[in-house]
Amino acid sequence: MRKKNIDWESIFIALNKWRDDLSAKTEFAKTEISPSVTTVAETYSHDPWAVLVSTILSLRTKDEVTLVASKKLLEKTPAPADLDSKKQETIEKLIYPVGFYRNKAASLKKIAKILLTQYNGNVPDNMEALLALPGVGRKTANLVLSEAFDIDALCVDIHVHRISNRCGWLESKTPDETEMILREILPVKYWKKINALLVLYGQNLCRPVSPFCSKCVMSKQCSRKGVEKSR
Ligand code: SF4
Repeated sequence: MRKKNIDWESIFIALNKWRDDLSAKTEFAKTEISPSVTTVAETYSHDPWAVLVSTILSLRTKDEVTLVASKKLLEKTPAPADLDSKKQETIEKLIYPVGFYRNKAASLKKIAKILLTQYNGNVPDNMEALLALPGVGRKTANLVLSEAFDIDALCVDIHVHRISNRCGWLESKTPDETEMILREILPVKYWKKINALLVLYGQNLCRPVSPFCSKCVMSKQCSRKGVEKSR
């Protein structure tokens, strides 16, 4: 199920204004209120290796932890060859305490080897090749395509999935299903923008439990589906 005639322009104008107001109010630069991967991408001039590393570290990990771990690791391993030469235990220590740090260190070792042997040390710029890398799912691949290669990719994480369903834009069971429906109903010009905006919105206002509907800038466009308790 998907809703027709959604006023995307009004939604994105409202979300952008909310983000700018938040930035001004908290006296932070825009990059400091961006998701960690966006911040890493901007810090490292959208270097594909830096974006891939931070995206993998960010899975099931808080933004502030991802940011510190990404910088620590990238300082010692600015390219796949540097990471390939490190012992797994060294990588684990550098990225601790990100979630599943042992598994992620193992995946990163394997990824570095594949990039060196199959891609001349470069990160591939297509979905199929990215999905073939260990530990890389659609969310990671889309974020790498968008942040590193400026491709119109649509990254759907748990915040985008939750808010899209609550607002009644669509009905879906998984983030991957949400991505497929949004690809049909969301104009391409918004694909690269939706993730960063809704992650920030989901962390601050449209929280998983008891969202702040009374302060919401999209309340007129939202059917609050499944919301039993709000503030
Ligand atoms: S009205 Fe409530 S449920 Fe809907 S988007 Fe806003 S905060 Fe989320």
